[in-house]
Amino acid sequence: MAYDPDNIFARILRGEIPCKRVFEDDFALAFHDINPLAPVHVLVIPKGPYVSNADFAANAPDGLVLGFWRAVGKVANQLGLDPEGYRIVSNHGPNGGQLVFHFHVHLFGGRTMGHRMGNMPRSTDT
Ligand code: AMP
Repeated sequence: MAYDPDNIFARILRGEIPCKRVFEDDFALAFHDINPLAPVHVLVIPKGPYVSNADFAANAPDGLVLGFWRAVGKVANQLGLDPEGYRIVSNHGPNGGQLVFHFHVHLFGGRTMGHRMGNMPRSTDT
């Protein structure tokens, strides 16, 4: 699939659509998910045109891959999630349930996620 430069996260990166930003550096932007499934549900996106993890892992320059994953760690730390823990999810393609085709990582925290490893956390999970 070709990257669509008008996908919603590309538009957020360009500042055309607002977001509730929690972190930004040269490599990544992090903001609150519009439909949170946990007390903390933040999306981290790289500053580059990559459809999903497959595209990002294969085609992004080493510095961006490194900077992006360091940013994910910084976001979790900045949100105070390290001591209690958190979950990272990235959906790729139809079987992964991907809806927005700009690579992103979901960061879930603030409660126990349980062990439904094949699924996204549910907002009703306790
Ligand atoms: P997925 O592609 O399956 O990983 O899901 C895309 C995620 O983006 C969903 O959790 C949506 O709630 C979230 N989302 C969609 N539009 C926005 C937006 N404008 N701001 C924040 N989050 C969004």
